[in-house]
Amino acid sequence: MAAGLKLYNTLTREKMAFEPIDKDNVRMYVCGPTVYDFAHIGNARPVIVFDVLFRLLRHIYGEDHVTYARNITDVDDKINARALRDYPDLPLNEAIAHVTRKTADQFHADVARLGCLEPTVEPRATDNIAQMISIIETLIAKGHAYVAAGEVLFDTRSMASYGQLSKRNLDEQQAGARIAVETHKKHPGDFVLWKLSSDNEPGWESPWGRGRPGWHIECSAMSRRYLGEIFDIHGGGLDLIFPHHENEIAQSCCANGTDVMANVWMHNGFVQVEGRKMSKSDGNFFTINELLEAETFGGRKWPGEVLRLAMLMTHYREPIDFSVKRLEEAERLLAKWPAMNIADFDPQTRPDPCVLEALHDDLNTVAAIQALHGLAGEAQANAEKRAVFAVSAALLGVLPQKAEVSDDLAAAVEALVAMRLEMLKAKNFAEADKIRDDLAAKGIQLKDGKDKETGERVTAWELKR
Ligand SMILES: [Zn+2]
Repeated sequence: MAAGLKLYNTLTREKMAFEPIDKDNVRMYVCGPTVYDFAHIGNARPVIVFDVLFRLLRHIYGEDHVTYARNITDVDDKINARALRDYPDLPLNEAIAHVTRKTADQFHADVARLGCLEPTVEPRATDNIAQMISIIETLIAKGHAYVAAGEVLFDTRSMASYGQLSKRNLDEQQAGARIAVETHKKHPGDFVLWKLSSDNEPGWESPWGRGRPGWHIECSAMSRRYLGEIFDIHGGGLDLIFPHHENEIAQSCCANGTDVMANVWMHNGFVQVEGRKMSKSDGNFFTINELLEAETFGGRKWPGEVLRLAMLMTHYREPIDFSVKRLEEAERLLAKWPAMNIADFDPQTRPDPCVLEALHDDLNTVAAIQALHGLAGEAQANAEKRAVFAVSAALLGVLPQKAEVSDDLAAAVEALVAMRLEMLKAKNFAEADKIRDDLAAKGIQLKDGKDKETGERVTAWELKR
């Protein structure tokens, strides 16, 4: 048994032993995508990182004892703008529905190819408007929010502990040159809970008129609905600490009368591409789909498992530099691992203790991958080790899948392999090599050996992705 799970908590800036509130229902919330455009490679990082944590929690507490909620933000001014641009002839609500459905479907397809499991629940903001209105009403009633100039605003000065996550105090924010002074706000740091909508903006009826929610209130409403007032883990990218997560804490704690919203706050580091901040104008902005489908990054397509492994080859709290070199490194590593199907192994098989120990140490995927790589060598020749390798790799979601081989394909390959052996016997090496290379191009790898009894040359083959 590995030592207990330790996680780094942004709230305390410390690695701490993880103790769930309820071992029978360990609850995790991760901020999901705003669905107006393809997800980029930076968006992929939290999805992959928290997928590994989800897998680990399921391993520790049991598959049915973990609830992972990841929302879909389907109301946002960027969505409106995209709907008006792409579907100018449709009524706005239909145009928005097209954009959000198409983008959410694309997101699901992309992250599935990165080997991510579906979360337990995936609430949409627009299905939770009533819950948001209810929280805003409570905040007003308790003196934590006020109405001004067609907006409901959270009164940051009403909360003594505001800034606990980002460790910013209100005076620092006031001094911050980037905060534009808006005269209707009591304090420059006050943020929008609800704003009125014009006719060409989506809106819902509320006590403050037809309007729409601010972004932060969505997560307070959806996490409370699906995970309760206090839950175990809240995750997201480093860029969400302030203001998004700080404001989620303010809304939830003030509305619910609790000291904390989630016990552990986890944040993954930034993603750079080829050593620079990703930016469309610099030409180093890549969507997940582009890496999978287009030949723009390093002039080729990349398999989802390569992208995933490359992402996990750096510890989640460190910044990561996504580069062609790194992807090639991940691909070389994967090629050395045996491909297999997890379904072929006894689910009771215990994962490798070194892999488990590494993951228990604040999700040290770097050490876990090293341990896995050591195991891969032994797994080639030993059935028991193969099973341990398979369940350990599955814990990281990086098990190379054994491709299905149809009977027709097998017969065709067998015939070519036999023909190549004839060529080798006849010392026609050029023809033999050509057959080998043609098969390799189709993903079929040959391995020559000697028959133990007859001493004759034999060739084994395997379909690699
Ligand atoms: Zn959120």
